[in-house]
Amino acid sequence: MSNNRVRVGILGATGMVGQRFVQLLANHPGFVVTALAASDRSQGKPYGEACTWRLVGDMPPLVRPMVVQSPQPPLECDVVLSSLPSDIARAAEESFARAGYPVISNASSFRMDADVPLLIPEINADHLDVLPRQRRERGFGDGYIVTNPNCSTIIMALALAPLHQRFGIEAVVATTLQAVSGAGYPGVPSLDVVDNVLPFIDGEEAKMERETRKILGRLGHTAFEDAAFVVSAQCHRVNVADGHTVAVRVKLCKRASITEVREALSAYRSVPQELRLHSAPERPVIVRDENDRPQPRLDRDTGGGMSVTVGRLFPDSVLDYRFVVLGHNTIRGAAGAAILNAELLQARGLLEGKSAREDTTATAQARLR
Ligand code: NAP
Repeated sequence: MSNNRVRVGILGATGMVGQRFVQLLANHPGFVVTALAASDRSQGKPYGEACTWRLVGDMPPLVRPMVVQSPQPPLECDVVLSSLPSDIARAAEESFARAGYPVISNASSFRMDADVPLLIPEINADHLDVLPRQRRERGFGDGYIVTNPNCSTIIMALALAPLHQRFGIEAVVATTLQAVSGAGYPGVPSLDVVDNVLPFIDGEEAKMERETRKILGRLGHTAFEDAAFVVSAQCHRVNVADGHTVAVRVKLCKRASITEVREALSAYRSVPQELRLHSAPERPVIVRDENDRPQPRLDRDTGGGMSVTVGRLFPDSVLDYRFVVLGHNTIRGAAGAAILNAELLQARGLLEGKSAREDTTATAQARLR
C-alpha cells in the first residue's frame, strides 16, 4: 500500500487498453499506478518515450518517467491489471498469481476456466466465492486470477442481466457492430475498414456465445453452471473509433409487457451501486426512447463510459423483444471493467493479501533484527 492507496501494476501498459488503465487511474482515490510493463520493444524506456499516447488529453505526468518493465514478477505493486495479448497472457498472468499477486485480466486466456470468475460486478459478484478453491487447487497461495469478459459480451450482458433476473431468458440472437479500437493498435488496416464492414472478428462469436452463459449462470457447489439459454452471435468490425453496438433479440421465459421490460432495464442497480464503488455508474443501463439512439459518438461516454445505453426497444415478431445496446469498448468493455472488478475485490477485502503478507513479513523481519 502507498499512503493507503493500493499500488497497481499494469501489464500491456502501452496498448489501447493499457493507456485507458493509465488514464482512468490517474486520479483514482483508492489506487495508484506504481509499475508499468510491456514488450521488449518498450522495456527499459521511460513510459513517456515508449508509449505513443493515443487518447484524448495528455498522458498523466505521474507515469511519464516510469521505466517500462518486463511483465514478470516481481513488480512493485499490490495488484496486477493485465491487458496483454492473450497468447502471452496465460503464462505471464499465472506467474504473477503464483508469486502471490491478485491478477485482474482483460485477456481471454483464463476466462472459461472452471475455477476462474468471469466477473461483471453488477451481475455475478458471488462468483468470487470460487477463489478459495482456485487458490487451493492451483497452489497460488495469496494470489489469484479474476477475468473480465470480452468487450461486446460485457455490453450485451449488462442489458440481458435485468431481463434474466426478472423474467428468465430462453434465447438470444445478437449482431454486433464493433469499433476499430477493439482490435488494439494498429489493429485493422485502414484500407480494410474505411468505406467497409468486416463480417469476421476471429473468435468473437464463440466468445459471446460461451461467455454470456457463464456470466449469467450460477456458481454451484462444485462448478459454474451455465445459464440455460442459447445465444447466437454474429460479429462485424465497422468504421467507428470507439463504442461497440449490439443489436439484440431476446426470448423470455415469462410473459412481460414492454413497460415491464423497459422498467427492468432502467431500474437496474446492483452491488457496485450499493457499495458506491468509485467507478460504478449510478445507472448501469440507460434506456433512451428517441428513434435514432444509441449512437457511438453520442452515447459511448455516458456514465463516464461505464453505463451502457439501450434504445430501439420494441416487441419482436420472431422472438419476444428487440433492442440495440451500446457501450464504450475500452472503458466498460475493458479497462474500466477491470478497475471496477478491482474496486469490488478491495471492498471484499481481497486486495489485502499481498501487501498484508509483505507487511507481516516486514514486521517479523524487524522483530528478528
Ligand atoms: P494492443 O493495443 O495491441 O496492446 C498490447 C499491449 O501488450 C502493448 O502494451 C504491448 O506492448 C504489449 N505486448 C505485446 N506483445 C507483448 C509481449 N510479447 N510481451 C509483453 N508485452 C507485450 O492491444 P489492446 O487492444 O490493448 O488489448 C490488450 C488485451 O486486452 C488483449 O488480450 C485484448 O484481447 C484485450 N481486450 C481488448 C479490448 C479492446 O477494446 N481493445 C477489449 C477487451 C479486451 P508494446 O507496446 O511494447 O508492444
